[in-house]
Amino acid sequence: MNKKIRFFQSIHFKIALVFILLLLVTVEIIGAYFVRSLEQQNVETFKTSINIDPYLQEKLATDLMSTHVSSANDNMKTTISQADVANTATVVVVDDKGTVRATSNLNDQSSVGQKSASSNIKSVIYNGQTYEGYGYGDNTGSTYTRIIPIKNPNATGDGNAIVGAVSITAPMESVYANINKIIKIFLIASLVAGLLGIFISIVISRAITRPIDEMKKQAIRMARGDYSGQVRIYGQDELGQLAVAVNNLSVRVEEAQEASEAERRRLDSVLAHMTDGVIATDRRGNVIIINETALDFLATKNEDVIGVSILKLLNIAQDYTLRDLLENQKELLLDFSQQLDHELILRVDFSLIQRETGFISGLVAVLHDVTEQQKSDRERREFVSNVSHELRTPLTSMRSYIEALSDGAWKDPEIAPQFLKVTQEETDRMIRMINDLLSLSRLDSGTSKIELEYVNLNEFFNYILDRFDMMLKTDNEHASADNNQHVLPVANKKQYVIRREITRRDLWVEIDQDKFMQVIDNIMNNAIKYSPDGGVITARLLETHNHVILSVSDQGLGIPRSDINKVFDRFYRVDKARSRKQGGTGLGLAISKEVVAALGGRIWVDSQEGKGSTFYISLPYSPIADTGGDWDEA
Ligand code: ADP
Repeated sequence: MNKKIRFFQSIHFKIALVFILLLLVTVEIIGAYFVRSLEQQNVETFKTSINIDPYLQEKLATDLMSTHVSSANDNMKTTISQADVANTATVVVVDDKGTVRATSNLNDQSSVGQKSASSNIKSVIYNGQTYEGYGYGDNTGSTYTRIIPIKNPNATGDGNAIVGAVSITAPMESVYANINKIIKIFLIASLVAGLLGIFISIVISRAITRPIDEMKKQAIRMARGDYSGQVRIYGQDELGQLAVAVNNLSVRVEEAQEASEAERRRLDSVLAHMTDGVIATDRRGNVIIINETALDFLATKNEDVIGVSILKLLNIAQDYTLRDLLENQKELLLDFSQQLDHELILRVDFSLIQRETGFISGLVAVLHDVTEQQKSDRERREFVSNVSHELRTPLTSMRSYIEALSDGAWKDPEIAPQFLKVTQEETDRMIRMINDLLSLSRLDSGTSKIELEYVNLNEFFNYILDRFDMMLKTDNEHASADNNQHVLPVANKKQYVIRREITRRDLWVEIDQDKFMQVIDNIMNNAIKYSPDGGVITARLLETHNHVILSVSDQGLGIPRSDINKVFDRFYRVDKARSRKQGGTGLGLAISKEVVAALGGRIWVDSQEGKGSTFYISLPYSPIADTGGDWDEA
């Protein structure tokens, strides 16, 4: 379309050419007919002029019959000079013997008295018929000859009526010269007409083709997507109407284009902002569109996946064929955790792109991230089974002790108190567990209110550590309930040393005192529980420019690397039996994690198996809050 049309191929040239050819053919036909007629006319006129009047013929007959040859010859010379023929014509009189008697050719008077060489004259004398014919003379060019028999006017019957003949020969040059002149005039006229015709036909064809040319240009612009121009309308004829139609078409196409562009943009932005991933493929299952979310899910780039088979992209080529997806599979649950370095479970819903005819032109896959849902489903299932399991163990052990007691052991003053102590411990553990579960459930459901207040963390941490130092001095067995009814589950009479590395600065941080105390108690208790007797526990508190970091290190068992991320899970215990023996519920760190998260902080652990563990808690802190502290004090 964009290729330039060559001049000779243009409609402009073709129209002009048709006009010129028409003109030339017409002029030529008319000219040829005209010249031909003119030529015939002229020749006819010329021929009739080549004649001798009958009365002169009679005079010649008389002289030919005269016996006075010499005077008769003179008479005849005079007679032929009187003949009304062109002065270029040569008139020769011959008697019935074929002897030349007179000639109008002054240069050829010597031929008089000699025999004529012309066979035509002889045959005219012999036949008595007029001869007409064309000849060619060296000097004269094309000639016309008429030979008329001269008859004895007095003769009766045919007998010796022929007394001689007169031959008139005239060059035709003048006739053809005339015709040539006319042809020349005609040629000049047709040349002028041709030139004028070319000019006019160019002007006319320009007038016709200009609107067509403009429409062509507009159509090319439209094809390029430029709808700004309008075709000029030159008149109300068919071309004018076509121009109006082209202008209307341009507006319509622009509107349609804008509408489809807007639709496309809307679709693009819908796709881009969808939280679900979307992949569209062609009929062979090769990806043609993929949105950002899907790219993020699959941790890939647009240019790497366009044209790639969806089976390969979703890594399901081994289990499914494209036909399976097209015919049966409406939904798949795919686990990408192994492929990627994080956990990702996607639910993929497939649907077909079908034309009205039923022809399948592609496939759309919607990827929905169900990792959290799957995880929480799994956790819920595990949680229920864990709770049942955790409660069943103490209940079973209590039942066996109670059975033993009721079977008579109650009477034994040595065994009975022991058994009762065990059942009491199990009951305590169950109460602790139920309390922990309740706390967790309140934190989960959001019913447990976080009551934030600015607390000097420095002072607060020291206070908690003082309590642990105090407990060491008092009897661990009587680990008393603190003023918040929070039971301190410190098992065994274990010795430990608490070393403090605490900043001297006052750090005012917004926390819920009760809940945060529960977190630190739990971490301190764990440090004691999982440390050897007499172990050193180091408590640190420091600040960064927008966080406070609190840590508790012990010299205990440590946590294996594989378990390090799981210790904050509910009921997760590295060594179940040991933890249970120590009275642990496996819920303490889970609660701590929830509380710290609710305070906007983070809890994590660093550990070396066999050497010890360090639990860290970081809380958001802005030094400006110091003034808040000052206020409190004020
Ligand atoms: P538990 O009541 O069993 O202590 P937690 O939630 O407080 O429950 O702790 C979960 C698990 O983390 C414990 O069972 C233990 O295996 C491990 N753990 C916690 N703190 C420490 C520590 N300081 N040293 C070694 N292991 C620890």
